Amino acid sequence: MADETVTVIKAKHLVNVDDGTVVCDPFVVIKGSRISSWGQPNSTPPPERRAVLLDLAERSLLPGLINSHVHLCLLSEGKPFYHQQSKEMALLTAVRNMRRELNSGVTTVRDCGDQHGALFALRQALEKEILSGPRLILCGPPLTMTGGHAYFLGGVADGPAGITRAVRRHISRGADFIKMIATGGGTPGTFPALASYSRQEIAAAVKTSHKLGKSVAAHCRGIPGIENCVAAGVDQIEHACFELPDGSLRFSMQLADRMAAAGICVTPTIQLYRDVQAHLARKQKNDTLTHDESRRLKLLPQVVEEKFRALQGFLTAGVKCVAGNDAGLPQTGFGELWRELAAMVEGGMSPVQAIAAATCSAAQSLNMSDTIGSIQPGKQADLFAVDGDPTRDISALSRVRMVMQAGRIVFQN
Ligand SMILES: [Zn+2]
Repeated sequence: MADETVTVIKAKHLVNVDDGTVVCDPFVVIKGSRISSWGQPNSTPPPERRAVLLDLAERSLLPGLINSHVHLCLLSEGKPFYHQQSKEMALLTAVRNMRRELNSGVTTVRDCGDQHGALFALRQALEKEILSGPRLILCGPPLTMTGGHAYFLGGVADGPAGITRAVRRHISRGADFIKMIATGGGTPGTFPALASYSRQEIAAAVKTSHKLGKSVAAHCRGIPGIENCVAAGVDQIEHACFELPDGSLRFSMQLADRMAAAGICVTPTIQLYRDVQAHLARKQKNDTLTHDESRRLKLLPQVVEEKFRALQGFLTAGVKCVAGNDAGLPQTGFGELWRELAAMVEGGMSPVQAIAAATCSAAQSLNMSDTIGSIQPGKQADLFAVDGDPTRDISALSRVRMVMQAGRIVFQN
């Protein structure tokens, strides 16, 4: 057997996301790319010859985070997302963004829509070790109707037959899941409160994807889109805003119950609304807002409150919620998943529940629980260390000191 590097990590706390406990003065033994064992102070680590000791002193150790909703090809930093970049620029943007995610403790990224499949090449570069970055879970360009939200990313497909072909093409290129745009969105000229794809079109995607062993996620802001997705059998709903034509939100417990019964998982993406709210409030101080911006700013406190109410409703109904922040939007940057977790805590989750939404629960929704999502023997050694105890103060997640991916230290501060 090849000689594997053995590392013994010691820390102040270990967050065991599987049972929601915090273990004091733990050790973790890592062999090669995997976790071999972990334990508490009174159970001494197994004697390892040539083991490297990594003493993290007062820091807390957590499993690497999973960001369940990003767009690596988008620029963020105040730049509108609805302009197509050149293929080369989309790829270079993604290289920068995936580094920011990794350095913030995100060791797995689920990209919810790239530009023209650019990320398939990026993942090959990671596999060939040309670049280092988080594990990438990819869907290619999101499928959308002609003129629909995010059409400029290159995933336009219409009608059940066209959609079936597009799903097969995406999966043959390497898509891990299929993303459908089931309502309008932030793309000018589309209507977030209204359904875009028909129920039959979504059902065609679900049938073809499931036959090929892949899941389907759908972008849904308005209620008719959510209704269509529940009926068509999608696996995950992104945003799930219950948005009305005037831009306000109205959560429906009855619909949440149906989502729970169908086993649908939700990525609630709360923080992006607070990011826009903070941006517009800043802009208002130094500048004049357009008519549309003032209207939006007035509406946003209600929207954020209703997103919180929806999160509580989902938890009550038993809908599994995972953390994703839609990084890539103009006001929502990369390396900031912790803010989404802070929003989930403000919305009523405990810090441990919020951390689970970005670790073990997210791994379950990806069907990857046996390899990632918690610190357990046999899983990939994807870990990170922060200053402070994030189970008491979630903002501790912003103070990242070390990131390890598959047993290798990829960031140290
Ligand atoms: Zn998105």
